[in-house]
Amino acid sequence: MDIAKKISEIKQTLPEEVKLVAVSKTKPNEDIMVAYSSGHKVFGENKVQDLTKKYEELPKDIEWHFIGHLQRNKVKYIAPFVYLIHGVDSVKLLKEINKQGAKNKRIISCLLQFHIAEEETKFGLSVEEAKELLSSEQYKAFENIQIKGVMGMATYTENESQVAKEFRMLKNIFNTLKNEYFSDTKDFCEISMGMSDDYSLAVKEGSTMVRIGSKIFGARNY
Ligand SMILES: *Cc1c(COP(=O)(O)O)cnc(C)c1O
Repeated sequence: MDIAKKISEIKQTLPEEVKLVAVSKTKPNEDIMVAYSSGHKVFGENKVQDLTKKYEELPKDIEWHFIGHLQRNKVKYIAPFVYLIHGVDSVKLLKEINKQGAKNKRIISCLLQFHIAEEETKFGLSVEEAKELLSSEQYKAFENIQIKGVMGMATYTENESQVAKEFRMLKNIFNTLKNEYFSDTKDFCEISMGMSDDYSLAVKEGSTMVRIGSKIFGARNY
């Protein structure tokens, strides 16, 4: 498995404006360093403990994305350095991120995660919940977070039209929120969708950020 070659192959298929987040979860530092040495500096992790350990051990110019389900009591560990938190799905979590952002004197960028898949288990907001969040006085008072867009995961299925439909749904949610809450800013601009098996479809449906793991680093053993 040639990690650097995989990354360059994938980048060649992506439009220039689509960012590749190399999902390095469960993979050793050596694998990340192969990618890093080839010039790739954007990585995603889904466990706070792994992310903080890798942050400490690896070069400081890596852009770290948190892509997992974030527990409120763990925000403090990643708040000093995380570049983007993809999976925000409650005002309570946002409140804690805001608090830790203030403590670290920074504005932490976040994406709102939406439930677009058929599976029950996947986390995420509904449009109604997001509107409630974005209209709340509590949210409006947050000064140390910035919502940069949306994130979602499609159903794990071979049915491409189903997957495409779900990505289209996320794009529509993005457009709705942009019109209603972010029409005066360019900062709300990201649609994080697409993984190893479905990123081409996601890009066709308007993804601005793909999160690709196994296609770069090989299958994971948990
Ligand atoms: C693991 C993971 C990915 C990458 O999955 P692959 O299928 O290995 O590309 C992307 N997004 C999230 C949220 C993940 O947890």
